Amino acid sequence: MPQKTLADTLAARETIYVNCGHPMCCKSIKLDIQALIDRLGPDHGSMHWDLVGLFGCSDCKAAGRDQRPDVLRMHPRLRRATAGPESRLEADIR
Ligand SMILES: [Zn+2]
Repeated sequence: MPQKTLADTLAARETIYVNCGHPMCCKSIKLDIQALIDRLGPDHGSMHWDLVGLFGCSDCKAAGRDQRPDVLRMHPRLRRATAGPESRLEADIR
């Protein structure tokens, strides 16, 4: 299978975010790849369509809004290029 797995994603040190696509919300959560592997197994796909159905936005659900999760992948190279706000966001989560 040419498909990328969670183990591949961890090895490549990529970061995956799930963003709420609702304009009233725009909540963003950084996924813990190791925790996903513990839950789904290392062979679970890590592409957009493998993950997008697994998540919903609790804020939008509580507010009765449409669920519009979107999966965003940050490559290590891309993270370095946007080091400013990106590192601040990570510091907030940790
Ligand atoms: Zn939301």
